[in-house]
Amino acid sequence: MEKRDYYEVLGLQQGADSAAIKSSYRKLALKYHPDRNPDDAAAEAKFKEASEAYEVLSDDDKRAKYDRFGHAGVENNFGQGGFQWSDFSHATDFEDIFGDVFGNLFSGGGRGRSRGPSGPPKGRDLRITLELSLEEVAQGVEKKINLTRQQRCKVCDGAGAAPGAQTEPCGTCNGIGQVQQVSRSFFGQSVTVTACPTCSGEGKIISDPCRECSGEGRVRETASITVRIPAGVSTGNYIPLRGQGDVGSRGGLAGDCLVFIEELEHDQFTREGNDILLRLPVTISQAALGDDVEVQTLHGVVKMKIPEGTQAGRVFRLRGKGVPDVDGRGHGDELVEVIIWTPTDLNSEERQLFERLDEIQQQRAANEGKGFLDRMLEALS
Ligand SMILES: [Zn+2]
Ligand SMILES: [Zn+2]
Repeated sequence: MEKRDYYEVLGLQQGADSAAIKSSYRKLALKYHPDRNPDDAAAEAKFKEASEAYEVLSDDDKRAKYDRFGHAGVENNFGQGGFQWSDFSHATDFEDIFGDVFGNLFSGGGRGRSRGPSGPPKGRDLRITLELSLEEVAQGVEKKINLTRQQRCKVCDGAGAAPGAQTEPCGTCNGIGQVQQVSRSFFGQSVTVTACPTCSGEGKIISDPCRECSGEGRVRETASITVRIPAGVSTGNYIPLRGQGDVGSRGGLAGDCLVFIEELEHDQFTREGNDILLRLPVTISQAALGDDVEVQTLHGVVKMKIPEGTQAGRVFRLRGKGVPDVDGRGHGDELVEVIIWTPTDLNSEERQLFERLDEIQQQRAANEGKGFLDRMLEALS
């Protein structure tokens, strides 16, 4: 079957930004998710189609290949069996997109598939959230994190057996890890293969379990790890730390630890992509006469010129004073929006001056007529 264009699948134009891709995928996935549409093959097909499109378009690298070469550019990523939507559980920022909605579905079941008939299961992935200030985002930062996780038991080195104890092949399954169940019905005989209930599919049992870990081969401990956060990250990005999750029981490999970034709100700046916005209050006389002012940036205070006759809402761009691009391809700017402050507590001298100014301007307005009003309106447009 001919595949549809990924942008078309998500109802977007080529060039859509990542927020639009995420939001559009979220809507489709919530609508067509198999849990909400049981036994509906059409909905499942739509869900898979949208997941595949998102998988590609949410990944800068795959997206670039797709934009250049179309489906052929990204096909290899899905192996010969084609795209499997369950693969998605390993892929991207799932919790970020769905929160708890499908949390169980994707973090639970899928993992077990990697478990061989006689190999120990791999440990769980951990997800932690790391809050960063805008300054830390702008500069990049190294953070120490304390993490409670399952670590290999040092007493038995993960084997789960007490020193000197033997592991024996499981009697229920004869060490195979699987049991067969034969059932007969009108249609004939059928055989079901399931994991052995006695040894949980491991094929062996321990005569004398390690006392430190009760035979689990792992214990919960707090570890301190250091994460290097590159400059330019934003909320929803995550840093995968391979092998830093829970170790599996009885010598199973460790899962990963995914560190999700959460940006803290700044009291002065608002971030928009790589640019940061600052609202700068100036007085009416500064705006009318012009002035040199000091402006806060993420990299300290800089001087900025307010030209004579600056209108309210005018935006000045301080080049390169924003957040660096996370891919290292450049730097955002700081945008300084001028807010004109109208005084509310005039003293008598200020009041006299404003009254005098008002007289002069009323006079000019009377003399110039429509021209005066036109100049005001022009400034607003
Ligand atoms: Zn142990
Ligand atoms: Zn068994």
